[in-house]
Amino acid sequence: MSRLILKVAIDAPLRHLFDYLPLFNVPPPAVGCRVRVPFGRRSRVGLVVAHAPHAEVADAQLRHIHEAIDAEPLLTAPLLDLLHRAADYYHAPPGEVVVGTLPALLRTGRPAQLAPPFEWRLTNTAPAPDSVGRAPRQAALLRALAAGPRTEDDLDAELEGWRVTARTLASKGWVERAERAPEPAPTGAPPAAPTLSAAQQAAVDAITGASGFHAFLLDGVTGSGKTEVYLAAIESALAAGRLALVLVPEIGLAPQTEARFRARFGAAVAVLHSGLTDGERLAAWLAARDGRVGVLIGTRSAVFAPLPRLGLIVVDEEHDTSYKQQDGFRYHARDMAVLRARLESVPVLLGSATPSLESLEHAASGQYRPLHLHERAGSARLPQLHLLDVRHQRMTGLVSPALAAVMRDELAAGRQVMLFLNRRGYAPVLLCHACGWVPKCTRCDAHYTLHRARRLLVCHHCGSERPAPTACGECASGELLPLGVGTERIEADLATLFPDHAVLRVDRDSTRRRGALDAHLAAARDGRADILIGTQMLAKGHHFPAVTLVGILDADQGLFAADFRATERLAQTIHQVAGRSGRGDLAGRVLIQTHQPQHPLWQALLGGGYGVFARGLLAEREAAGWPPYSHLALLRAEAAGAQEALWFLGETLSLAAEFGQAGVELLGPVPAPSPKRAGRYRAQLLLQASRRAPLHNLLRRWLPALAQLPAARQVRWSLDVDPVDTY
Ligand code: ADP
Ligand code: ZN
Ligand code: ZN
Repeated sequence: MSRLILKVAIDAPLRHLFDYLPLFNVPPPAVGCRVRVPFGRRSRVGLVVAHAPHAEVADAQLRHIHEAIDAEPLLTAPLLDLLHRAADYYHAPPGEVVVGTLPALLRTGRPAQLAPPFEWRLTNTAPAPDSVGRAPRQAALLRALAAGPRTEDDLDAELEGWRVTARTLASKGWVERAERAPEPAPTGAPPAAPTLSAAQQAAVDAITGASGFHAFLLDGVTGSGKTEVYLAAIESALAAGRLALVLVPEIGLAPQTEARFRARFGAAVAVLHSGLTDGERLAAWLAARDGRVGVLIGTRSAVFAPLPRLGLIVVDEEHDTSYKQQDGFRYHARDMAVLRARLESVPVLLGSATPSLESLEHAASGQYRPLHLHERAGSARLPQLHLLDVRHQRMTGLVSPALAAVMRDELAAGRQVMLFLNRRGYAPVLLCHACGWVPKCTRCDAHYTLHRARRLLVCHHCGSERPAPTACGECASGELLPLGVGTERIEADLATLFPDHAVLRVDRDSTRRRGALDAHLAAARDGRADILIGTQMLAKGHHFPAVTLVGILDADQGLFAADFRATERLAQTIHQVAGRSGRGDLAGRVLIQTHQPQHPLWQALLGGGYGVFARGLLAEREAAGWPPYSHLALLRAEAAGAQEALWFLGETLSLAAEFGQAGVELLGPVPAPSPKRAGRYRAQLLLQASRRAPLHNLLRRWLPALAQLPAARQVRWSLDVDPVDTY
């Protein structure tokens, strides 16, 4: 007799699906529906990804599902297809991909629909609050509702224990509970779109004229009006009754992008990012799935959001490495966006002022169609880049006299200055002047960074903190010297150098609280701060019209990094930071402080701009056989002992030789560049291949086998396909 087996994905670190039987006498749950299933001794939420005639396990082991959760599939067929291929490409456990990318509340089995919000309001018979003066709780609730209906969420926040009171008042007929009417859509005409330049219009025409899958690389200098191109292309998709998905690299960028998109598209815009509460995330996800959203803006994981009638995908700042998930299911959202567009036969638009070398190579080889915006929109001009030779200069912290002089002129003219330093904290090292003692994180073998305002030593590797010492741990001397300079220290130096000007620091520490980043950025835009000092966070995408001078304080840091992508990153960062300046009517200038003014990288970057520089880098990559001219996968392992990770990787190496590794080079194993982190020792093995197929063929056979190695039990290991950094 033929029977039906449910193939279920469960969020567990196992590289296979699980077989279950449906319940008796009810139709089996469809593919795409969630089910609750017995799993070991507990029960788990899984998702049915296929129906099959046969089970992989013996009959005695087959169990029935506990219950079907969804009546309708949660995920559409093309989305399930995308997730399957993603799991296959990244060699990730299918459950981690299919279930792990759902909003948290759906993973726990919550119904896939929203309870409508309820509100409480007064009836006509409600007495005045003062007339129930002897019942203070009743009076308080009546008073709260006298100002107008309140949602249950509001009341929860305002009045403790209000529910009991509400029931009492309802029994008297004084208050009632009702479903809240949806918010009225905002009225008023949306702001008129600017008249597009010829280059913008050509880009929009190319995108809207495409039918089916096409990948476009919109390579446009900062401030060239890429966003206007996105908006116009989306407008045309919406007009055709299709929806758009817009990916942005950071939550920090989502609110601004959201504001700009809302101004154009109003209530059709929804956002999905990690700054939302679980409930908000679920609401946005469901609204998208139900087609109540016209434009979904989100960070990385939004690439897996369900959207019926998808018409266009936009990936803003496509070069940004935060599109790569760095733990668990290590996917690259840009690459998934391109794959999704292909599966759903829609155009995908990748935009950047500093495209990744991968995308430039794809454009050169004809896989992506390049679109260019060479000039800034309106009257804004591109800033000039200059090197400041700081050798032999008497620095105040990291500020050279020449930089300080230019800053003074700009500030005197009422303009804003932005300084950039990719190192947070006060000082990266604390040192005893008497004996040389340096406090170190014992779990990482790394120096602590001094955070002076919070009076803490913080390990930037593992995040551990301890109170900053006031005396040496070895000799008890009180003379502890902070060495080196972080953003917090620059902030203090600037207060001394420019006592009459407001300084604002923007980094991970100053923006810890929810909403703090937005508040800081608003202060910067409104001109409430004259000097902005920040890390990378300040560099990305923000628009400050009054900034005319950008100073890059310690550019040499990026010249000497170990990773082969370091120069690409440095060039992108400098161009992005530079792009913050001169976006208004005023011309901008960028001063790069360096001790290496002759370095060929500076010559290339200043001589030809990012495009020329990137072509040079591509030639180097090709000669050296690095991506995008080869394909990488990195096997990482970590263990409690110093040797286990290396041993394990050594065994995986022999295993690969057994499987036959033609076309794949295995490099290592070697200790990771910072081998000890959070008390564990780390090592890695790099796989490199000039073609993808042999690499993936090897991985497909090798991974299940290495999971079975006895040595695998002593280590934690993970595979990173297309790693964005190799440390
Ligand atoms: P990008 O996304 O490339 O950094 P934006 O789209 O943010 O650039 O544009 C930069 C500025 O120029 C914005 O203030 C935008 O409103 C303005 N802008 C863009 N295109 C035009 C245009 N065609 N006409 C006038 N202003 C424009
Ligand atoms: Zn000492
Ligand atoms: Zn540490």
